[in-house]
Amino acid sequence: MREDFGFTQDQIDIQLMTRDFIRKELTFERIKECDEKNEVPMDIVKKCAEMGLTSITLPESIGGGGMGQVTNSLILEEIGYQDVGFATTIGACSLAYEPISLFGTQEQKELYGKYIVEGGLAAFALTEADAGSDVSNARTTAVKEGDEWVINGTKTYITNGANASIYTVFAVTNPGAGTRGMSCFIVERDRPGISVGKEEDKMGIRLSNTCEVIFDNVRVPADHLVGKEGQGFKIAMSTFDITRPAGVGACCCGAMRSCIDKCLEYAATRITFGQPILQNQAIQFMIADMEIRYEASRALAYKVASAIDAGVIDSALASASKTMSSDSLVKISEDAIQIFGGNGYSKEYPIEIIYRNAKISQIFEGTNQVQRMVIIKSLLKASGMM
Ligand SMILES: Cc1cc2nc3c(=O)[nH]c(=O)nc-3n(C[C@H](O)[C@H](O)[C@H](O)COP(=O)(O)OP(=O)(O)OC[C@H]3O[C@@H](n4cnc5c(N)ncnc54)[C@H](O)[C@@H]3O)c2cc1C
Repeated sequence: MREDFGFTQDQIDIQLMTRDFIRKELTFERIKECDEKNEVPMDIVKKCAEMGLTSITLPESIGGGGMGQVTNSLILEEIGYQDVGFATTIGACSLAYEPISLFGTQEQKELYGKYIVEGGLAAFALTEADAGSDVSNARTTAVKEGDEWVINGTKTYITNGANASIYTVFAVTNPGAGTRGMSCFIVERDRPGISVGKEEDKMGIRLSNTCEVIFDNVRVPADHLVGKEGQGFKIAMSTFDITRPAGVGACCCGAMRSCIDKCLEYAATRITFGQPILQNQAIQFMIADMEIRYEASRALAYKVASAIDAGVIDSALASASKTMSSDSLVKISEDAIQIFGGNGYSKEYPIEIIYRNAKISQIFEGTNQVQRMVIIKSLLKASGMM
């Protein structure tokens, strides 16, 4: 793997430690077993938390790693190399914490951070049955009663929904005000009125839990409101500007690299017509095309992550990274199946899981159509046409 983005020694050490750990712990046999059972390997989650991988972006002052998005990207890339589903489980913690990091008070950072630092998982609860791309159509409400907010509604497709000890929840506080009527709340899992609904039986990323989370008259203190009332939509979108390049961009790069390594190895040993299939230019060019997409995606992911760490936020570039990486991974994993032939289609080999895992990256954290909407809006604004 090429390492030419000016990573610090600390970052390289964390990258290599993660690589060594995850490749030993999360073997193909274990991935296959969890994939079949639709099960999160919680023992490995626990070890990741102990190593600080779930809390890498939390401030050192509250027990986190105090690192930025480049380091987070390196970790998610290494985990993504083994399994994008498991990387999603781990990455959801930084996704859920980011609203508090960006808009929370010091007390809120400590309150929320404690759960993750102590080994718990976190979940980001935005989507609803009728509010996916169209977030402004959310129906979950939060009503102020004295010193408390009372939350009612059902969130769908929530990563870590069943396993999280803390949630970041978006709810409507001013119905009819559209994107300005939504607010963001910290909600502890053990509050009365919270239950877990339908668990998704998914095509891929089965080493992550995805389910409904139901809020039935759930009361949280007034100080659990993150940012100001009505800022929820802004908080969610600002969060994605930070998380898309690492959580999807870099994570997909890991899976792309995995495909390329596996294809090179397989094509060098699979003999047809008396020679390895790697001798054929048709195969060589497919792998060369994979490398082009991988290098371009990785360069963009680390460009955006470095800019974020330097304090420069660019929504369009974050969307470009997410889109480039996810589209590339879908294409590369599909071609990897082709190179493996019938074996690529078999569950005995690792490629079909990568292919099934890949598709979601074009859908979550905003579909790739939504990303293109962000990019064109930015272009039109910059050229004075909007
Ligand atoms: C495995 C998984 C994990 C998830 N994890 C989380 C999570 O942790 N937290 C969370 O809050 N959500 C999560 N989600 C939800 C995810 O972010 C949404 O599924 C996604 O944003 C798309 O919303 P939707 O499914 O309602 O699709 P829809 O919004 O119904 O879109 C359907 C299709 O129409 C297209 N479309 C919609 N509007 C337009 C338009 N204006 N122009 C062009 N095309 C359009 C979309 O791009 C898509 O192709 C998860 C989803 C899955 C499947």
